[in-house]
Amino acid sequence: MPETTFDPAAAHPQQAEFSFQVGTRLTDGEGNTLPGRTGTITTPHGQIKTPAFIAVGTKATVKALTPVQVQELGAQAVLANAYHLYLQPGADILDAAGGLGSFMGWQGPTFTDSGGFQVMSLGSGFKKVIDMKSVDQSGPDDAVAPGKERMANVDEDGVWFKSHLDGTMHRFSPEISMGVQHQIGADIMFAFDELTTLQNSRGYQVESLERTRRWAERCIAEHFRLTDERSTKPYQALFGVIQGAQYEDLRRKACRDLGAMAFDGFGIGGALEKENLGTIVGWCAQELPEDKPRHLLGISEPDDIFTAIENGADTFDCVSPTRVARNSAFYTPHGRFNLSGARYKRDFTPLVDGCTCYACQHFTRAYIHHLYKAKELLSHTLISIHNEHFTVNLVESARQAIEQGTFFEFKDEVMAKYYAGKPDPQGQPA
Ligand SMILES: [Zn+2]
Repeated sequence: MPETTFDPAAAHPQQAEFSFQVGTRLTDGEGNTLPGRTGTITTPHGQIKTPAFIAVGTKATVKALTPVQVQELGAQAVLANAYHLYLQPGADILDAAGGLGSFMGWQGPTFTDSGGFQVMSLGSGFKKVIDMKSVDQSGPDDAVAPGKERMANVDEDGVWFKSHLDGTMHRFSPEISMGVQHQIGADIMFAFDELTTLQNSRGYQVESLERTRRWAERCIAEHFRLTDERSTKPYQALFGVIQGAQYEDLRRKACRDLGAMAFDGFGIGGALEKENLGTIVGWCAQELPEDKPRHLLGISEPDDIFTAIENGADTFDCVSPTRVARNSAFYTPHGRFNLSGARYKRDFTPLVDGCTCYACQHFTRAYIHHLYKAKELLSHTLISIHNEHFTVNLVESARQAIEQGTFFEFKDEVMAKYYAGKPDPQGQPA
């Protein structure tokens, strides 16, 4: 077969169906322009005003919430995971259903994570990006966390991995990931990349980054081929994923390499320590094309949100609001508290006074405390509604503050209150 010459920098005509407009730029007190900005992403299923928090719906559901609840709490888009949906129920099922949005009954924009992270991290036992701060940086390249079996093996062409569900062996490659993500049909997809850990040597990071670059080219080629083959479907945007761990030169190189390719936007992923989050996002924002959106993959807490926005992330996702809700933790402007405490037994105030979410408008802490103690599933739903609303609202307020030129005042005010470490002022004494 003759070698085909594919130019990864050449755009596809259908890419015009996806766009990003930069709005107001963040400035410091002296009038200098910073990487942060507002903007609007336009997809075939609607617009996303950025910066935006993207609700996580890993298995085509935001845990414990109906799509109407997700919409009413203010979320603009949902991010599902290609790895999980590939294993169960199978990407062909979503394709037959008309894609992720129709399958799950969500009418707005959708994202899928490529599956690279899950394929490579579920087996190694290392947790999501920012949780990796405790990792010893000098370990061997094939390290796994204590008590874990390595379940993924990377080669030049792709990855063999073991299903976390039933132990069966599966193969992901750039082409397979693109095929799976086209079948799932989200508006925004991510290129298949290799996840390294902070424990990998610099030599391995360099090698891996080159592989991720070659995989990025293969992802674009296969993505455009599938776009032509499935030309009656709405265009699905493809974001390249920036790796490079904690190394400035590697992160910048990855941005320049992938930034020159015909991606619709970029994801900032991989190993990074919480304290370096802003610095790394900042390097990427300096190098990546200004007119394309940047998604920060997987963050955790309110301080990360401000750091991400300030340094130029347009969208980000986070499992915390629903995950902690299932352990009865709820967000307030004064920090996160645990509703299981006995102090809430007779607390007939809402989770947060003045909160406009459905849970706070209709229910008291005492009632939700009771539901949680009685192991009633409605406690998960109500706390998840509140926590998602709290997070969406925080990001929306930050967006408005950028527009009004008051971002840093807003940030200082929120952070001072949230991290003051005071007991819940609205609650009963402990
Ligand atoms: Zn609320």
